[in-house]
Amino acid sequence: MPSRADLHTHSTFSDGVLTPTQLIDLAHRNGVRILALTDHDVTDGLPEAFQAAPRYPDLTLIPGVELSTDVPGSEVHIVGHFIDWKDAAFQQELTRLRESRLNRARKMVEKLAQLGKPVAWERVQEIAGEGAVGRPHIARALIEAGHITSINEAFDLYLSRTGPAYVERERLSPRQVVELLLTVGGLCTLAHPRDLNPLNELLADLKEVGLIGMEVYYQDYGPQEIERLRAVAERFGLLPLGGSDYHGLSGPQQREPGDIPLPMEPVKQLLALAEERGVLSRAHLAQLQ
Ligand SMILES: [Zn+2]
Ligand SMILES: [Zn+2]
Repeated sequence: MPSRADLHTHSTFSDGVLTPTQLIDLAHRNGVRILALTDHDVTDGLPEAFQAAPRYPDLTLIPGVELSTDVPGSEVHIVGHFIDWKDAAFQQELTRLRESRLNRARKMVEKLAQLGKPVAWERVQEIAGEGAVGRPHIARALIEAGHITSINEAFDLYLSRTGPAYVERERLSPRQVVELLLTVGGLCTLAHPRDLNPLNELLADLKEVGLIGMEVYYQDYGPQEIERLRAVAERFGLLPLGGSDYHGLSGPQQREPGDIPLPMEPVKQLLALAEERGVLSRAHLAQLQ
């Protein structure tokens, strides 16, 4: 059954296909009454979203952002809700993160050209699709360009830490990301945790700095996965939250806004926390009763 809440969506301001206004229209049409816009590394869609949202008096819009960070072997995404996105220092940090990520990838592409293995920067960006351009995307561009035949080969020959095209990146740990979001009042949720390993260590670490939720209801997560993740969330005292991660892309995993079995109870708890911290009005809360 579709949910009246969707806490994780993207617009054209990152890698979604709908503008914030179109996204709000669609979500509302689908029955969503509590919606968070959580673009990757950017909050520039929020002013438009907050302009569009009042057309629906029964809609609560949550300002959010999704930040990605690395742990060995995988990428960890953290969603911050109720952020004070207008904070100047926060915006500076977001800009710095976006630029450092892009510059690093661009430098690696330049090094590859110098090594006689050119790939088109535009193509690398296309392959990356979702937000953060990284080495796997450059590796795929290398395969497409016929320079190598496998991702492993790309890493072995060029992109590994000791490879000739490697460029060191500035790292923000998951913990630092939570701390950054906390500076602007963010309520932090670990996004799409299904394949994260070891999940328990990560949660213990992040809970200590202030993580309050984990996505349990997400895209194609089935009943068994939801059950497992809900138990994990409970063990760590985290709210079992979720979202469609709607991008407007097609594909078997993709879901429409609200098309996730997220119950209202944990969402209300999230809103109550926001209220406690003074970022949500009582009027909004009353609407949800
Ligand atoms: Zn994500
Ligand atoms: Zn996302």
